[in-house]
Amino acid sequence: MASEWQVRQDIVEVGKRLWLKGFVAANDGNISARLPDGTVIITPTGVSKGFMRPEDLVKVDLDGNRLAGSREPTTELPLHLSVYRERPDVGGVVHAHPPTATGFAVAGITVETAILPEAILAFDGIPLAEYGTPGTEELVQSVMPYLKEHNAFLLANHGALTLGADVMEAYYRMERLEMVAQISIIARVLGGERRLPEEAVERLRKAFERREETEERERKWREGLPWPCSDCMLASNCPAPNGGQSCRSQSPQSSPQEGGLRAGSEEIEAIVARVAEEVLRELRGGNRGAP
Ligand SMILES: [Zn+2]
Repeated sequence: MASEWQVRQDIVEVGKRLWLKGFVAANDGNISARLPDGTVIITPTGVSKGFMRPEDLVKVDLDGNRLAGSREPTTELPLHLSVYRERPDVGGVVHAHPPTATGFAVAGITVETAILPEAILAFDGIPLAEYGTPGTEELVQSVMPYLKEHNAFLLANHGALTLGADVMEAYYRMERLEMVAQISIIARVLGGERRLPEEAVERLRKAFERREETEERERKWREGLPWPCSDCMLASNCPAPNGGQSCRSQSPQSSPQEGGLRAGSEEIEAIVARVAEEVLRELRGGNRGAP
């Protein structure tokens, strides 16, 4: 787990990158990270994010009480704290004004994510939050409706906000948001964006989920934890002994019901559809009060 000093250094590094990339001008922008004990390290108000030192940062609790640091925290402190209160999974928050993404926010246009595979996987859409006066509750309320479902937001006539498991991830999302916005503009200049078809997006998501599943299985195997068999999807209950081999390769004669199916995405879909159908039939039967 990252130490407080490491987290402070990460925030300083993110500030430097935001400034060098032209995502902030003068004293714009603010950055924060949540420490393992639940307290928050945040940038002070009135400083360029390109020239901070770890000791310049302010430590606060979730109610905004200053616990350490001689400077005043950013005026967007309530926004950062609201994010941490609403999203226990978030460990880092970055707010900046990257010019292209902010251009979209000023024009009142959302950044389309279904144009690039990386954008589809990184963002589940990028909502455009209504304008709210910076540094006020109005800005917090404008983001609230989208907070649970998204990790990147355009703030109308203002800038952008990104979240991550830690402050580096939040920063990388800001980088990616700006990159997607730039590519989108160039595509528009060259005649228009071509959205990826829905089925290509679905295929991409499935491939990514499968990769994540495989990585999770491998991690569990390395750590000696029970892990789901890739064929029958049972965890420690799979009849195949000892991780590494699937029940299919252990018992090639097994019937489909016993786990003889390959776990290709189409087959998984078919299984899910069949199970759903059975459940629905059960439910309908139950509603009628007859089997
Ligand atoms: Zn701002």
